[in-house]
Amino acid sequence: MTQQKHQREDRTLVIIKPDGIQRSLIGEIIKRYERLGFKLVGLKMLVPTPEFIEQHYTLDTAWRQKTGEKTIAGYEKKGLEPPSRDPLEITAKILANLKKYLTAGPVIAMVWQGAHVVEIIRKVTGGTEPLTSDVGTIRGDFVFDSYQMSDNDNRAVRNLIHASGSPGEAEREIPHWFKREELVSYKVFQEKILYDVNLDGILE
Ligand code: ADP
Ligand code: MG
Repeated sequence: MTQQKHQREDRTLVIIKPDGIQRSLIGEIIKRYERLGFKLVGLKMLVPTPEFIEQHYTLDTAWRQKTGEKTIAGYEKKGLEPPSRDPLEITAKILANLKKYLTAGPVIAMVWQGAHVVEIIRKVTGGTEPLTSDVGTIRGDFVFDSYQMSDNDNRAVRNLIHASGSPGEAEREIPHWFKREELVSYKVFQEKILYDVNLDGILE
């Protein structure tokens, strides 16, 4: 029987999108994740190709359906008529626009590690649509875009960051962006405080 990995080894993928870099938010975004106690285990800057971005979003075969449904629900909640009732028609357009958005300039790809990292990074990043992202989240605090505005202008919602939506998504996305040897296994000393069962060795 293979031993289950400890939760401290959980990993997630974060991308600072081109708008995050253009808005000078690299340090601010990294700070939010770093101060939680998570460990940065991979980092690089690149300009992705449109093919690479399409592959990224379609690694999850359910993404087209889910994202289309989420967009329709977002419109309905505000009492607005969505651009289409067909989730797949909506995502065909979103995907085409995402390819333009994420190849418009450099992005920073990162892998963060720690217990519950996928869920907590999503929480701190905030909901997809900045108009309705909670105050205190990165998307809620630093940008104001909406589905309505982006759909009217036929472009992607500019929300600064991509963060894996589930542990399964993270598992598929990390190898898409990073080779195994680009990820570093190392210790940081604060992990003793975060994870050790007995807090020995503090007092002299
Ligand atoms: P998240 O990035 O929060 O996981 P999704 O996976 O649902 O969100 O969508 C991926 C990205 O596609 C979003 O971050 C956003 O940039 C863009 N997007 C999603 N829905 C829309 C929409 N209705 N109109 C324009 N862009 C969208
Ligand atoms: Mg997503």
